[in-house]
Amino acid sequence: MVDTICMLPWESFTVTMNNNFRPCCRFQTTEGVLAEDYDEAFKQLRRDMLDGKKDPRCRKCWEEEACGQPSMRTHANEFHGLEFKKEWLTENFRKPVHIELSIDNTCNLQCRMCSSRFSSKLLKRDKWLVENHDHLDFHVAKVEKSRYETLKDMKIDWSELRSVKLLGGEPFLSPNFLDFLYFLDMRTDISNVNLEIVTNCTMKMTEEITEILNQFKYVYLYGSFDGLPEHSMYQRVGSDWYQNFDHFLEYGELLKNRQMSVHQTFTVINVSHIDEALELYKPHTDTVSWSYDDYKFSFLQAPDWFEEWVLLRTNNKKLRGIFKSRKYDHIGWHRTLHTIDTFDRYYNTSLEKANPELHEALRINTKRYVDAHKRPPTRDCYYCDLIDEM
Ligand code: SF4
Repeated sequence: MVDTICMLPWESFTVTMNNNFRPCCRFQTTEGVLAEDYDEAFKQLRRDMLDGKKDPRCRKCWEEEACGQPSMRTHANEFHGLEFKKEWLTENFRKPVHIELSIDNTCNLQCRMCSSRFSSKLLKRDKWLVENHDHLDFHVAKVEKSRYETLKDMKIDWSELRSVKLLGGEPFLSPNFLDFLYFLDMRTDISNVNLEIVTNCTMKMTEEITEILNQFKYVYLYGSFDGLPEHSMYQRVGSDWYQNFDHFLEYGELLKNRQMSVHQTFTVINVSHIDEALELYKPHTDTVSWSYDDYKFSFLQAPDWFEEWVLLRTNNKKLRGIFKSRKYDHIGWHRTLHTIDTFDRYYNTSLEKANPELHEALRINTKRYVDAHKRPPTRDCYYCDLIDEM
């Protein structure tokens, strides 16, 4: 059997913050198309999958599988029952079995690797960055109407819906969260539907939310914590790890049919302690998962010394595999260092306090770089500008 098929382009869509549709969250948001064009736009992808071709947009799944790990694709194929459906697959979309969306961008945290597109709290920061540090390449998001507002007016057959994944903003804070759950309740039998929620765990769960969540078939709750407490609070600005983790444990007591997981995002800031971070959550969760940031704080653009320094501290097989696709990006890396520094000033935080080992490693290696950098006679040098600002 051809093993390049992923059921998601046939039975799933992920709605971007611009209200466009794409097969899964691993496709760039720019790949998203209008809902009415979704079937047509991804016909070639479906054909290629049926013909045994690997689409480059599915790189992360192939990377995971190459390390012997289950991937989003293998999970999806199991859940959607590829084995029983493969004979009937054509180039056409079927009905939604799984959907994924951020309800809106209402959030109370200002995570460093996030943006105003996903957190209303970051509008002020991103505006300040655009006005004062435009070379750091941040943008102020134009906030679209909520995904719930978009979906509720569409003619979709929800009868085969079995799974919904809700991402941030922060669902428990969103005024649209309960409306969306009641909307689903009116259109399909939610006792057949698994609900996946990603939450920052800053809010206590209300009685009304608990009651409707317990009507779903199963709740997969992912608490977002990024590494050890100090690293997590540094990366997720505004969070209180200790209080938020208590909330996470409380959710586990209130929900009946549930799987409690912690999902961590690793960046330049916290990846050095990945082993301890994974161990920390294991005793309190059913599963622990993680991904890496490939945006502003990506370690995949770091220089050689950074990879060596991190890999000296960990035996994590998945991370070792991921580092194989690292490609040093001189400008990107120095922009990241400058962003760390600029954010410390903006948030009045200190990398030195949060992750002293990383701070020291950056100090030593940046000094080496600065000492070795030959300043050109003209002042027209991007690196000189960065160095002067750092
Ligand atoms: S193979 Fe992976 S990246 Fe591609 S559609 Fe499936 S889950 Fe998404």
